Amino acid sequence: MKIVILSRNPHLYSTKRLVQAGEKRKHEMVVVDHTKCDLIIEKKNPVIIYKGAKLENVDAVIPRIGASVTFYGTAVVRQFEMMKVFTAVESQALVRSRDKLRSFQILSRAGLGLPKTVFTNYSKNVKDIIKGAGGTPVVIKLLEGTQGLGVVLAETDNAAESVLEAFNGLKARVIVQEFVKEAKGADIRAFVVDGVVVGAMKRQAKKGEFRSNLHRGGSAEIIELSEDEENAALKAARVMGLGICGVDMLQSDHGPLILEVNSSPGLEGIESATGKDIAKSIIRYIERNV
Ligand code: ADP
Ligand code: GLU
Repeated sequence: MKIVILSRNPHLYSTKRLVQAGEKRKHEMVVVDHTKCDLIIEKKNPVIIYKGAKLENVDAVIPRIGASVTFYGTAVVRQFEMMKVFTAVESQALVRSRDKLRSFQILSRAGLGLPKTVFTNYSKNVKDIIKGAGGTPVVIKLLEGTQGLGVVLAETDNAAESVLEAFNGLKARVIVQEFVKEAKGADIRAFVVDGVVVGAMKRQAKKGEFRSNLHRGGSAEIIELSEDEENAALKAARVMGLGICGVDMLQSDHGPLILEVNSSPGLEGIESATGKDIAKSIIRYIERNV
């Protein structure tokens, strides 16, 4: 098969591992930078031009689209879909997963556990927002944040109010969330491929820190998910329509609470924590579908 990986950087761990896993299974692996694709649209003849030539005879694509290029990246994935090429992550699901509010609405409708969360349109009623999230302590998150940057724990009303006012003043959109203390600075990531959890890890924050991101000094180890956790991860992937995703959850005293469903989950953390060949699971998933 000819499999295209949509990635802006062939040197990233995840991209390299997918190339390696595909070549090991005798596939032709091509890394394509989606931001450099031109799309030709005319009646019933969708074409993608890359580096001066048509991209042809592609059997499948694996989108690894960064959040900052979601709009154009998904247009490229959609063009592949129009060309009847199998995609490991559908364009619709990708767009949906990048909208945090919409994702939470979908997960909540499916009856999945979520930390109580308030979204607002720069509301000035900071006291009501804090109350809406169940009162302090609360976690305040920048909507555009990643890797734990822009995630603040506000322990008192005063602190929460000043942080909210500061973000409001900067016109930075935030969500306010109940602080799940029982999680003890840990979260779990379930890596789901084609309706199966192919690896799971627990990330623990370093001492004195509540954010467990590896980029914030956290450490990761393999874990066995409880039945509730596994079911929650699989249901989240299903309702989000994602063939591949990383489901991040907090362990609370009333079951797993979903923090985020990531549609381009990195392979490095999960492969090193679990010792599993996740890239191979992804290639096998494609083989079953083409
Ligand atoms: P990012 O997407 O930037 O990683 P997250 O929402 O995943 O931001 O938050 C970063 C980390 O902070 C999480 O991995 C988790 O350890 C911790 N955390 C986030 N939200 C909560 C919460 N509501 N209660 C307790 N801990 C939280
Ligand atoms: N930026 C990384 C990604 O989205 C983080 C994923 C992760 O938390 O493992 O690929």
